[in-house]
Amino acid sequence: MQAYCLKCRDHRDVNDAEQVTLKNGRPATRGKCSVCGRTVFRIGKAA
Ligand SMILES: [Zn+2]
Repeated sequence: MQAYCLKCRDHRDVNDAEQVTLKNGRPATRGKCSVCGRTVFRIGKAA
């Protein structure tokens, strides 16, 4: 899957993607940018 990386300012492939649930109950995905290693976050389930 991909997510928008704030550091790269582009969409990047995500490593170590993990499903999380936000406080409002919505699903989200958290992982690490495959390019710079920064934590990236995406609302919604992994594709
Ligand atoms: Zn990045």
